[in-house]
Amino acid sequence: MALKCPECGSISHARTSAYEAPSVKRTWYQCRNLECSCTFIALESVERIMMKPQKVTDMENAGEQETTGRQPQTLNRYGSASKLSKRQQAPV
Ligand SMILES: [Zn+2]
Repeated sequence: MALKCPECGSISHARTSAYEAPSVKRTWYQCRNLECSCTFIALESVERIMMKPQKVTDMENAGEQETTGRQPQTLNRYGSASKLSKRQQAPV
Protein backbone atom coordinates (compact mmCIF):
# COMPACT_ATOMS: atom_id res chain seq x y z
CA MET A 1 0.00 0.00 0.00
CA ALA A 2 1.12 3.49 -0.74
CA LEU A 3 -0.51 6.77 0.06
CA LYS A 4 0.33 10.35 -0.85
CA CYS A 5 1.97 12.33 1.91
CA PRO A 6 -0.45 14.93 3.33
CA GLU A 7 2.44 17.41 3.69
CA CYS A 8 4.33 17.25 0.41
CA GLY A 9 2.29 14.94 -1.82
CA SER A 10 5.08 12.44 -2.33
CA ILE A 11 4.37 8.75 -2.17
CA SER A 12 4.45 7.41 1.37
CA HIS A 13 4.93 3.79 2.19
CA ALA A 14 3.27 1.74 4.89
CA ARG A 15 5.57 0.89 7.76
CA THR A 16 3.18 -1.16 9.82
CA SER A 17 -0.51 -1.74 10.21
CA ALA A 18 -2.97 -3.13 12.69
CA TYR A 19 -6.63 -4.00 12.46
CA GLU A 20 -8.81 -1.65 14.43
CA ALA A 21 -11.88 -3.74 13.68
CA PRO A 22 -12.53 -6.66 11.29
CA SER A 23 -13.13 -4.21 8.47
CA VAL A 24 -10.99 -1.28 9.59
CA LYS A 25 -7.22 -1.17 9.27
CA ARG A 26 -4.93 1.47 10.78
CA THR A 27 -1.71 1.96 8.88
CA TRP A 28 1.40 3.94 9.79
CA TYR A 29 2.93 5.66 6.79
CA GLN A 30 6.26 7.29 6.21
CA CYS A 31 6.87 9.77 3.46
CA ARG A 32 9.51 8.68 0.93
CA ASN A 33 10.66 12.25 0.38
CA LEU A 34 13.79 12.42 2.52
CA GLU A 35 13.47 16.16 3.05
CA CYS A 36 9.94 15.69 4.37
CA SER A 37 9.99 12.32 6.13
CA CYS A 38 6.53 12.95 7.47
CA THR A 39 4.98 10.04 9.30
CA PHE A 40 1.24 9.76 9.60
CA ILE A 41 -1.49 7.30 10.38
CA ALA A 42 -4.32 6.42 8.02
CA LEU A 43 -7.47 4.41 8.46
CA GLU A 44 -8.68 2.09 5.75
CA SER A 45 -12.15 0.68 6.01
CA VAL A 46 -14.57 -1.40 4.02
CA GLU A 47 -17.13 1.03 2.68
CA ARG A 48 -19.55 -1.35 1.05
CA ILE A 49 -19.67 -4.98 0.03
CA MET A 50 -20.62 -5.10 -3.60
CA MET A 51 -21.23 -8.83 -3.85
CA LYS A 52 -21.08 -11.37 -1.09
CA PRO A 53 -19.72 -14.84 -1.72
CA GLN A 54 -22.40 -17.50 -1.65
CA LYS A 55 -22.02 -19.23 1.66
CA VAL A 56 -23.78 -22.46 2.41
CA THR A 57 -24.92 -22.16 5.99
CA ASP A 58 -27.32 -25.07 6.07
CA MET A 59 -25.32 -28.29 6.44
CA GLU A 60 -28.12 -30.47 5.06
CA ASN A 61 -28.23 -28.27 2.02
CA ALA A 62 -24.47 -28.54 1.67
CA GLY A 63 -24.72 -32.33 1.61
CA GLU A 64 -27.25 -32.20 -1.18
CA GLN A 65 -25.11 -29.85 -3.19
CA GLU A 66 -22.15 -32.13 -2.69
CA THR A 67 -23.93 -35.10 -4.22
CA THR A 68 -25.55 -33.24 -7.09
CA GLY A 69 -22.43 -31.21 -7.82
CA ARG A 70 -20.15 -34.21 -8.11
CA GLN A 71 -21.83 -36.24 -10.79
CA PRO A 72 -19.42 -38.24 -12.89
CA GLN A 73 -18.08 -35.94 -15.52
CA THR A 74 -16.70 -36.86 -18.87
CA LEU A 75 -14.58 -34.38 -20.71
CA ASN A 76 -15.70 -34.02 -24.29
CA ARG A 77 -12.21 -34.20 -25.64
CA TYR A 78 -11.06 -37.45 -24.13
CA GLY A 79 -14.20 -39.33 -23.20
CA SER A 80 -13.78 -42.85 -21.92
CA ALA A 81 -10.26 -43.10 -23.28
CA SER A 82 -9.00 -40.91 -20.44
CA LYS A 83 -10.41 -43.14 -17.73
CA LEU A 84 -7.92 -45.10 -15.72
CA SER A 85 -8.23 -48.83 -15.64
CA LYS A 86 -8.60 -50.53 -12.26
CA ARG A 87 -4.93 -51.39 -12.31
CA GLN A 88 -3.89 -47.76 -12.89
CA GLN A 89 -6.03 -46.27 -10.16
CA ALA A 90 -4.28 -45.04 -7.05
CA PRO A 91 -4.99 -47.14 -3.95
CA VAL A 92 -7.71 -45.54 -1.83
ZN1 LIG B 1 6.07 14.23 2.64
